[in-house]
Order: sequence, then structure tokens, then C-alpha cells
Amino acid sequence: MGVYWNTRVRRLSPYVPGEQPRDGKFIKLNTNENPYPPSPKVVEAIKAVLEDKAGALRLYPDPACTELREALARCYGVKPEQVFAGNGSDEILAFAFGAFFEGAGDPSGAGPVLFPDITYSFYPVYAELWDVPFRAVPLAEDFSVNAGDYRVSAAGVIFPNPNAPTGRALPSRAVKSILEYHAENAGIVIIDEAYAAFGAESMVPFINEYPNLLTVHTLSKSASLAGLRAGFAVGNEELIEGLCRIRDSFNSYTVDRLAQAGAAAAVSDAAYYEEVNRRVCAERERVSAALAGMGFTVIPSSANFIFARPPGVKGADFFARLRERGILVRHFNKPRISDFLRISIGAGGDMDELLKACREILLLRGES
Ligand code: PMP
Repeated sequence: MGVYWNTRVRRLSPYVPGEQPRDGKFIKLNTNENPYPPSPKVVEAIKAVLEDKAGALRLYPDPACTELREALARCYGVKPEQVFAGNGSDEILAFAFGAFFEGAGDPSGAGPVLFPDITYSFYPVYAELWDVPFRAVPLAEDFSVNAGDYRVSAAGVIFPNPNAPTGRALPSRAVKSILEYHAENAGIVIIDEAYAAFGAESMVPFINEYPNLLTVHTLSKSASLAGLRAGFAVGNEELIEGLCRIRDSFNSYTVDRLAQAGAAAAVSDAAYYEEVNRRVCAERERVSAALAGMGFTVIPSSANFIFARPPGVKGADFFARLRERGILVRHFNKPRISDFLRISIGAGGDMDELLKACREILLLRGES
């Protein structure tokens, strides 16, 4: 406990990201990065900034990220004023909690923000950071989100679609039923579409119909750019302005010049990413079937990862045995899911290595 920490910092329990080993020895299937490289056009765009004769990096980047937002607006058929760009979607989610949900002691008595009990574990961290009351709503037994559970009085709702770490997606009509319920009290529904490109229906086409809808996106997964830090949100102009107000009370230049150029190039090369992500999805289906064949309980995934429970071995033990074999996956020591593993989809033989290791571990089961 730091002597110099204020009460807020003392109270925080920060998010713990998946391990990022520095020696490159591991087959890394633990943080849902895309196994394929970014589009060559991204690399060209970044090089152009670096090689700019006038030394573009001398100058601050465009605080409004105009070119990137215009590229996104073209790609999604929305107005640039309906797009916010940020330093990865984590930053945008943090801003959204600060912009749209009241802190404890709110005189309006709007109630807590709702999100699933099993979901992206950053949400409770943001809620605590901003002192926003929240309630975790249990997922159904099969880990699906039951839309009806969110049609109750609350300050707002947030969940990923597909959900993480389960990978299960909710159809747009179910999301709409939640939006409709909360529209009456101007309650915001934030749909975190970090993994939507791998199989969920995006809610972006409905932003004009639902002024209380904010969709949040990342280039980390579907655009192979986790190392660049770029994300964006799409929603009505007022929501986007709310995010800008928080950003501009914090740091005007959250997206650097390289990230703005690289992200704009990525957004403009949809054809490349369609092919890359088609391959990721095909591999997901192959590996899901192979794991099910070994007796794993496999949750049907619409994301670039698989959430699965090995037969007869504790999740923590299976995780440790994979790690000994040089394979990193993600294990969450949390109620209901402590026997599951989240396995990101890899390429180039990595998934065959994973399947081989799983078979070995299951064969040795009971011998230790
Ligand atoms: N939302 C979800 C559901 C995620 O899993 C992640 C990645 N950990 C993010 C948002 C954040 O992604 P990024 O900050 O890399 O854009």
C-alpha cells in the first residue's frame, strides 16, 4: 500500500492483461491477437510518415484524427461526426464509462450499469475507476446472454458481442430489444464489437435508429494491429461529442501520427482483411471440432478464440501443462469458468501444435 496513494488509487484493483513474453519462445495463443500480419498498405502508410522529408513526427498529430475518421465513415456508411478514434478500444471504453454513466451518489437515481458476470474483465475496473455502480448479470447456463435480463431499470448496459471470453454472439434483434427498453429512459447501451468481424452481426447500421447505441471497435484483432493501438467508436453525434469532451479533458493527442496513418490504411484495405479473417474463422471451426472430438466442452465461438473445458483436468492444471510445453493460452481463475481455457486462433501450424499438446496432456491424465 503506497504512502503517497490517494483513496482512489488505494481502492483500485487494476486489470491484469495476458502475459506478453519477451523471448519469443512461446506459441502465443493468449491475447487474441491476429496470427496474420497487417496489410502491406499499413506498413507503407507508416513508412511514408517516417520518411516524410519535412519530418512529420516533429509536429503533433491531428487531434481530431480527421483522415482516419473519414476513412471509417466511408467504410461504414456513416458521417465522420458519428465516429470517434482512440488509442485502442480500451481507452474508448474508459472514456465511455466516464462520459455516460453517473458516479455513485447520482441524484437522478438511475441505478447501476449492467454487464454479464462472465465478460471482459476490464468493465468492473472502469466502473471502479469512475466510481460507477454496476451489477453483474449472470449468463445463462450455456453462457449465452439472455436479452430479457437486461430489460430492467438500470443506468445503462455494456457487453461485448460476441461476448468475451465465451465467444458467444447475440443476434441483432435481441440487442435491439435491449436498446428499445433503455431508449425510454435515455439509458445508453454500449456494444463492444472487438470481435464482431469474426462472426457477430454489427450494430453499426442501427446507430441512426437508436440514439442510445454506442458501438466500440478495435483494430487490434480483426486488423492485426494490436501493436499500433487504434480503436474507434460509432454512434450518434451527441455520444461522440461526449467522448471528445472526456478526451479533451485528459489528453488531446491520444492517437499518434503513425497510428492514424496505419489505421486509415487498414480501414481502406477491407479486401485483405476479409481474406485473413476468413482463414481465422475456418481454423476456429477446424480446431473447435478437433477439441470436441477429444472430449472438450467447446462453447460455439463467433470470435477469434475458443472457450473450452478440457475433460477430467482442472483448468489451472491444463493451462500449466500447456505452458510447460511452450504454449500460452488464457486461464481465468473465476467462478463458473475456472475449468475453462480461452485459446486464441493461431496459424502456420501453431494450432496443430496445440492439438498435439492437448492429446498428450489428456493421455497422461491420471498419471501425475
Ligand atoms: N474489448 C474486448 C472485449 C477485448 O477483449 C479487448 C482486448 N483485450 C478490448 C476491448 C480492447 O482492445 P484494444 O484496447 O486493443 O483495442
